Amino acid sequence: MYVLLGLLVVACSTVPLTHRKQFTMIPSSEMLTLSNESYDKVLKEEPMSSNTSELRDIRQVGNRVTNAVEEYLTQIGRQDLIKGYEWEYNLIDKDVKNAWCMPGGKIAFYEGIMPICKNDNGIAVVMSHEIAHAVAKHGNERMSQEMALQLGGMALSQALKEKSETTVQLAMTAFGVGSQLGVILPFSRSHENEADELGLYFMAMAGYDPREAPVLWERMKQAGSGAGVPEFLSTHPNPQKRINHLERIMPKAMEYYNENK
Ligand SMILES: [Zn+2]
Repeated sequence: MYVLLGLLVVACSTVPLTHRKQFTMIPSSEMLTLSNESYDKVLKEEPMSSNTSELRDIRQVGNRVTNAVEEYLTQIGRQDLIKGYEWEYNLIDKDVKNAWCMPGGKIAFYEGIMPICKNDNGIAVVMSHEIAHAVAKHGNERMSQEMALQLGGMALSQALKEKSETTVQLAMTAFGVGSQLGVILPFSRSHENEADELGLYFMAMAGYDPREAPVLWERMKQAGSGAGVPEFLSTHPNPQKRINHLERIMPKAMEYYNENK
């Protein structure tokens, strides 16, 4: 009888700007494969919006933020974090108040979040937050946990071969893309705080006024006060706590903004 030992590589690295130490178990190249499979599935299954002016706004803001992020990561010698990323921005024709960015840089907004974004600055807040999840490798951390829990630590390459459907579903849940499946896994509080913090700096680096971030979350809070809690709120921390956190880190964000506006 053979005992096959999967090669378990645990990579330890540090998240830029917040300096949190993190452990990821899935090699970046495999995350990209998984992300591309999940993305193809979304493109096949979801209705794309025909609102060309909103889509143009999303692409413009997205390009500006990702350019700033790439420039910053190059400056600090951490391009490795987005190696192999090919940014793409889409708008899905569904009344869902949510958005996501997969590892690999595939980003989508849903029509339902656009009135809350309201303008380019609002789009930049949501965009930068989602990009921050991808840069900080939260998808990898979540996927590593899910693999351990649900696939018994099976190596991803093997899981993709043997249980491709299950693995892609798990990934979509881990990447926060599960809305169409009726399952949205909340990001953990520490991931959310980190995405808020990095997101605030990223939008400022791209020349968007970070003081607009608390204003956007206030609008999100208002949207959640009536019937139907926005999907984004059901998976994210209490807006007031998030606003308080943003106010605490605003001075550092303003430094980036003043350098780049
Ligand atoms: Zn988030």
